[in-house]
Parts: sequence; C-alpha cells; structure tokens
Amino acid sequence: MKKILLKNAKVVDDKGIRKSDILIDDEKIAAEEKRGFFEEGEQKGEFKIIDLDGKYIFPGIIDAHTHYLLRSRGTVTADDFYQGSIAAAAGGVTTVIDYVDFPEDGDFKRSVAARKKEAEESVIDYNFHQIVQEFNPEISENLADLKELGLASIKLFTTYKDVGYMIDRKMWPDLFKRLKEIKILPQVHAEDDSLIQDLKEVYSRRNLIESRYHPAIRPAAAEALAVKDMGEVAHEVDIPIYIVHLSSAEGLEAVRKLRAEKAQVYAETTPHYLMLDNSYLKREDAQLFLMTPPLRDKYDNQILWQGISQNEFQVVATDHCAFNREQKMKSNSSLEILPGIPGTESLLPLIYSSGVRNNRITIREMVELLSINPAKIFGLYPEKGSLEIGTDADLTVFDPNVEKKLTAENLHSAAEYSPYQDFTVKGYPVMTFRRGQLIFDNKLRAEKGSGKFIFAHSSSLL
Ligand SMILES: [Zn+2]
Repeated sequence: MKKILLKNAKVVDDKGIRKSDILIDDEKIAAEEKRGFFEEGEQKGEFKIIDLDGKYIFPGIIDAHTHYLLRSRGTVTADDFYQGSIAAAAGGVTTVIDYVDFPEDGDFKRSVAARKKEAEESVIDYNFHQIVQEFNPEISENLADLKELGLASIKLFTTYKDVGYMIDRKMWPDLFKRLKEIKILPQVHAEDDSLIQDLKEVYSRRNLIESRYHPAIRPAAAEALAVKDMGEVAHEVDIPIYIVHLSSAEGLEAVRKLRAEKAQVYAETTPHYLMLDNSYLKREDAQLFLMTPPLRDKYDNQILWQGISQNEFQVVATDHCAFNREQKMKSNSSLEILPGIPGTESLLPLIYSSGVRNNRITIREMVELLSINPAKIFGLYPEKGSLEIGTDADLTVFDPNVEKKLTAENLHSAAEYSPYQDFTVKGYPVMTFRRGQLIFDNKLRAEKGSGKFIFAHSSSLL
C-alpha cells in the first residue's frame, strides 16, 4: 500500500498548533515534518498526496459515552454498531467507548465477549465500560478479569433501583477499595434515587407525568446529592471518580465542593446539556428531547459552558442513545418514553461552533476534551488521542469554513431525526482516517467490520 501524505495541514494536538505535513504508512503515523520536507519523495511519486490547503488535522475524535445496540424496555436502539459507527465516522469520530450490560452471574469474561461480538460490524474502533450493579466476593474476584480483557473502567448507577441498575450504597466502600487495588476507574451516573422515587410518586398521583415534568421528577438537586454522596465515599477511599453526563449547575457546584476538599472528581458533560434546555420539553414533539438526566434551564447551559471555559470538565461525550421517532413518540408519559437521543455525529461540529467560535475554549482545549483526555482517562493513549509517530493514524480532517444544517437528511443515525435540527454549524469534519484508512469523506469508504476492539491500559487518573 502506498504511503499517504497529508500536506499543508494545520495540526492540533497535545503539543500545540503548527503547520506541517503528516505521512501515513499503512495503519500508523510514519512522520510529521515541516512543509516542503517531503518534496523529493512527492516528485518521485512515492506517496498518495492529499493537499489539505490549511485545513485542520486533529487526533481522531473519541466519543467516550455511547450506547449502540442498547436493549431497553422490550425494544432496541435504532443504531446498532454498524449504523452508529457510520454516523460516528461521518462526524470525524474514530473511536467510541460503549457499555457492557451487567451479567447476572457476574461473569465479565462472558459479558465482554458477547459485547465484542455485537460490536464486530463497527467501521470504527471501540472499547467498553463494564456496568456493575452488585458487589460480592465473587464479583470482587472477577473484576480483575476486566484488566485482562482490556477494559479500564466500570459504570455505577445511583438510580434506577426499580430496574435493578442501582448499586446499593452499603457496597460502595468495599467496591472502591477493590477498584483502587486493581486500578479500575469507577464512573457514576449520579442521580439520587430516593428523591426521584418520592417525586415520581407525588407527580404521578396528580397525573403530572408528561415530558415537561421530567425535569421536576428528576431535578438537579438529585444529581447534586448523588455526586456529593458518592464523591465523599470515593474520597475516603482515596480513589478518583468520573461523573458521566453532568447536567446541571447544582451538580457542578457539588463537584466544586468536593474538589475544594481535595477529592479527585472528574466530570463529563454532553452537547445537549450545553445547548438544549427544558423549553424543548414543552413542544409538541417533546419526546424527541427526552433523556436522563433531563434537560435543565438556560441558566444551567450557561454555567456548564463556564465550567468548560474554566477547565472544570475533562471530557465532552454524547451519551448517544438513538431511538427513532416512532419509538420515541409511542408514549407521552415521561415515565415511559424511551430515554436518549442521537449525538455522536454532531459532537465535534457543535463544540467547535459553540465553543471555539464563541471563544469559550481554544481549539487546543477542544481537542483535549474530545480526544486527548478521553484517550488518557480510558487507557487508550497514546495509540488513540495523539499524533505521535508510530501510533495509530486516526485523524480527523476539519474544515472550519464548511457550513451545515444539522437536519436528519445531513446526518446518518438510524434515528432519522436530530435534536439539533434547528442548528446551523460552521466548521465540519471533511475526512476521517481510521488506522490509516480513509473511512469517510462525504461518503462511507470503510467496510463493515473493519473497526476493531482496542485494548485499554489503566486510566491515567489511577
Ligand atoms: Zn449513558
């Protein structure tokens, strides 16, 4: 296979921003040099040349929070690993970290193997977080298997007791001690279940259960309480925790308080908590904007953006969980609507347009949030999240001048709607390289199943 020369690029990675040419050899980054360095080889026809004419190259974007092929309430998400990964590739994403359901028998070897099988059709690379709902001596023992299986993190829930996801609070200290010992990072979906159960009861009794009541039934206070509770226990055990999809100003305030006490709390938020608010839940198609935690106030959007600007978040990921219109509109009870929205494909364009263009963050900080940090935190660095010589040639080529409306027609999720359909972004990925192969540029060029599982090492936080 001929080497590929990407010339006249503006490269952004952990070393900063510079103008250079990047040479790809098979799956790896072979060289990076100043413009003109490769002229001789160019003239001899040694490379396939792509002139980027000043466009950006980022290390491949990583969506650290996706749910492809998620089975929920008797149905399954519209995006499986094939369709979901096509949408991801179209959005400049080269790696996702998805989830593995908790195995009833605590056999993680089996659960991870089964999930790997389901992910085999992906066109981009992937890794997983293992969901853990229980803790006992056998599970304690089995958790060490995750390391050998190449997973760096587990996910805990402080809510959804009714469907069995919630891990009992009595188990937290011993679980955290074990995780510390074997260097596995705990993630938490933080919402206090008892408060939510009480509110559910209060609102249900009055039949106030449509979408617009979703934020009242699952308030920001529930998030803040759970962050505080779990943060304190983790702090006592002296292990870092990673809060997924932090949604509210109050939640962020709880994170700040823990950090002031020197607890090691890391936080992820999503484009929807930055850019959508609960006024969408009063629309006729409110169901399309329902996820958990719920959309908050415009004020929360503002405070979360401030948090992004002040480097209080380490990762922006999407919680991509795509159901189609028919699945979403089936009920208008917030207690029954399938929660989740599509997101991966619009992650980079939204954060660039709203974050970088509005001077809330620098382009380098954006690359940290969307690629470098998730790679480090979930043990994929430097193979992913960097442009170091000899590592995987995962590259996102980004044109800051392309304008696009985020309509369903322009996007690839099988959800066939976008919660951002009224948004026009400026700046869009135009080529996606995964391990040296151009997999997307206006159209899909990758074969089904060409993505692969990437083995994770320990989190940089541990
Ligand atoms: Zn999720």
